[in-house]
Amino acid sequence: MKLKEECAIFGVYGADDAAQIAYLGLYALQHRGQESSGIITSDGECVHEHRALGLVSKVYDEDVLSKLTGRIAIGHNRYSTMGLSSIANVQPLLVDCKAGKIAVAHNGNLVNAVELRRGMEADGSIFRSTTDSEVILHLIARSRAATLEEMIIEALRKLQGAFSLVFLTRDRVIAARDTRGFRPLCLGRIGDAYVFASESCAFDIIGAEYVREIAPGEVCVLGSGGPEYLRFAEPEKRLRRCIFEFIYFARPDSRIFGENVDKVRRKLGRRLAIESSVDADLVIAVPDSSNTIALGFSEESKIPFELGLIRNHYVGRTFIQPRQSMRDWDVRIKFNPVRGILKGKRIVVVDDSIVRGSTMRKLVSIIRQAGAREIHLRIGSPPITHSCYYGIDTPTRGELIASSHAVDQIRDYLGVDSLHYLSIEGLLTCVEDPDGYCIACFSGKYPIMPDGCLHKDVFENRIGCGEGFGVREELDI
Ligand code: AMP
Repeated sequence: MKLKEECAIFGVYGADDAAQIAYLGLYALQHRGQESSGIITSDGECVHEHRALGLVSKVYDEDVLSKLTGRIAIGHNRYSTMGLSSIANVQPLLVDCKAGKIAVAHNGNLVNAVELRRGMEADGSIFRSTTDSEVILHLIARSRAATLEEMIIEALRKLQGAFSLVFLTRDRVIAARDTRGFRPLCLGRIGDAYVFASESCAFDIIGAEYVREIAPGEVCVLGSGGPEYLRFAEPEKRLRRCIFEFIYFARPDSRIFGENVDKVRRKLGRRLAIESSVDADLVIAVPDSSNTIALGFSEESKIPFELGLIRNHYVGRTFIQPRQSMRDWDVRIKFNPVRGILKGKRIVVVDDSIVRGSTMRKLVSIIRQAGAREIHLRIGSPPITHSCYYGIDTPTRGELIASSHAVDQIRDYLGVDSLHYLSIEGLLTCVEDPDGYCIACFSGKYPIMPDGCLHKDVFENRIGCGEGFGVREELDI
């Protein structure tokens, strides 16, 4: 719902129009990051780059793409979960080191970035950005291993936390995924060319067929001999794929973590209906993120699904100073109720999640003003009680309404007639491998704790002023 998400990565090897393919792939992955975008290509001799703040449609034009020559490319869309939104932080990041030019695009958060960076700075390293991803290039540049693959593998072994990565060198594209598999990353094929993407929805637009996921702990090298699969580490016994990808982030038309997002999301809605049945006339979604969950709810409860809220798809950043009379304008600009549908009805409103609760509180008042008789709110995830340290943009714990309020209190704050969240057990019945997911945002049990860098602002501050942090929460090992 909000115009801010995490990151998308993309890579292509062996295509005449590599930059165009990367551009289309990034277009399909726009939902994962809307703050900036970048593509880096190599023509075998020279590396070309273009990076800018803004949406994919703004960042590139024909002229820009025509200058990004070469048969290999990587790209990135970013919503900053770490590092300020300045051009220095726009990925892919590119450096020149003893192994030649190397670029990286990263999705996820490293939990030991501060520690690694402090150590390297103490040794005299100079950093250009405030993103956690820059340490990866430094580690590669400092490696004394004989080949580039070995240099990368040595660097990957020092990283902790969440990372799905694509690297570009003069003549190769290389992908890697952390040993817990927090973030998705898959491989596709178009004829003789290969592509990497955060989500498979990027393959459809470019006519690529899905090959497989990059496995946790795996490195996949695309060179002249086709894909070569290496390992930098064994996968963790318990994988920790991010369950929130299924709830909110990934597009329903994608296949990630071996499952179709649409299928899982429908199951969330079905299970929610079983756990919290209600007598009502209509089910509506908060478009678009909860559409599929609402459909599942409607299918199971046999309560008809209606389009009771219309979303304006053209809302970007807006700098309008609203008049006092324009209450809730930030939500109203995005969502408008269909009065004829809502008036006099008992409505089930389905949303994927509640973060701070501010959007929903405003929406509830908008739906009431449109004449709804009763509002029963159903949430397709358990209460979010803890921040994410692995690449999802959750605010600090104190800002998460469910970290300090019981469900009844949240119901009263939002002004709904009833409120139910999906249970954690219910959520886990919706995926095929329930033990293989990170649910820390709901349980507070973190698979791996950060080295004190808890939030992007904290990362900035820590880098800036060198302070330490002592918050430790429960570890789920
Ligand atoms: P809030 O007003 O903070 O409660 O926002 C809740 C809405 O934000 C939900 O309806 C979700 O669709 C959406 N959402 C959930 N997680 C995120 C996230 N990490 N980034 C952006 N939007 C989110």
